[in-house]
Amino acid sequence: VAVTFHTEWAWTGDRFEPDVVIEVDLGRITRVGPGEPAPDGAVHLSGATLPGLANAHSHAFHRALRGRTHAGAGDFWSWRAQMYRVAGHLDPERYERLATACFAEMALAGITVVAEFHYLHHGPGGEPYDDPNAMAESLRSAAATAGVRLTLLDTLYLRSGFDDAPLDSVQQRFSDGDADEWAARVEGLRSAWDGEDRARVGVAVHSVRAVDVDSMAAVGALATSARLPLHVHLSEQTAENDACQFAHGRSPTELLDEHGVLGPFTTAVHATHVSADDLDRLAAGGCAVCLCPTTERDLADGVGPAWVMAEQGIPLALGSDSQAVIDLFEEARAVELHERLVHRERGGLSAEALLAAATEDGAEAVGWPEAGRIAVGAAADLVTVGLDSVRLAGAADDAAILPAAIVFSATAADVTDVIVAGEPVVRDGRHVLVDDVPERLRAALAELSEIDA
Ligand SMILES: [Zn+2]
Repeated sequence: VAVTFHTEWAWTGDRFEPDVVIEVDLGRITRVGPGEPAPDGAVHLSGATLPGLANAHSHAFHRALRGRTHAGAGDFWSWRAQMYRVAGHLDPERYERLATACFAEMALAGITVVAEFHYLHHGPGGEPYDDPNAMAESLRSAAATAGVRLTLLDTLYLRSGFDDAPLDSVQQRFSDGDADEWAARVEGLRSAWDGEDRARVGVAVHSVRAVDVDSMAAVGALATSARLPLHVHLSEQTAENDACQFAHGRSPTELLDEHGVLGPFTTAVHATHVSADDLDRLAAGGCAVCLCPTTERDLADGVGPAWVMAEQGIPLALGSDSQAVIDLFEEARAVELHERLVHRERGGLSAEALLAAATEDGAEAVGWPEAGRIAVGAAADLVTVGLDSVRLAGAADDAAILPAAIVFSATAADVTDVIVAGEPVVRDGRHVLVDDVPERLRAALAELSEIDA
């Protein structure tokens, strides 16, 4: 199906060009023509059009914790206890309703592809559902209803810590028992999704805490042979580093490296507390790092060394992770602004580099290398930021400041239009496929809190 867009401004990789014609056929961009008048019948996109945004690290069900866990005392570990309570209440139907609303919120924020780090596989007590991938199927339907592309990162989770303590009742829902059982379930999911054009399967090692070395090696081997993206939570907490040193005499990064988990297919999520040697290993492996700064600050984790990562050529991606907020502009600027607070200096990462993290590099990290660019051959995923709000008024008068104005001042609420594979998902700030997203969210959250009460 052919469609032509005419954008007031479009990001072509290093600058915004005015009056860009974007021709699309069968979901791909077939021509990009800057400085051209609008052809007859073109769909006009007023404002600044970017490639679709990639949310490289999400746990959809954490959306239920927003507002409930963000105030007061506590740390990552007390937050995790609350998160487990919500996980305990989910079944495939409730999960689909919550994830549909959450992914629809993402679409409204300009996100066109989401990587869901999925470990809530089984029923209460660890009993598999009749379809052992029922929860993954809920996420696939949710993403399809919400109009966003999905990478389901099927996550291996086997133990509650280095000491092989037994899994608690919620954690039993995460575990397949061993890596072979996990691999068999993943194989089933991959063949079930073989013909899907908007959903892909990747793999994940939950963390060095939750997976023993032989099992993480099995995930690395599968990712290498099947060319799947592999994600892993890495060094979000100093407690994890300490426990890993105590158990193995190595940092988590060293352990992953020695067991074949670090490669060009790998994205390390967080990498907040990494040493110079760890960074060398991530760079040498060709790994990307996904930073989730709004979550990392909410959980009092710390600040990841994004400037050094960028200097070493490590591609950066961004994730909304705990859904404290869903706003990739906020994630993008937080990467740079947190580093400024640490170094008391400005300007490690340019607006252009932060936009690349939100688009092209994020899409690559989640296994959609054809997305994230406005270029011939790329997937026709577009997001338009309105330039007439109080936040961005005046920015368009000087095209040179537009990238910085958007990265440092725009919010998710400035997104007016979202196109996925050439088809409208959001128009004039309204979701085209899901009506009344706030009400969907409210209802999905209410049914979970009723169970809790
Ligand atoms: Zn996470």
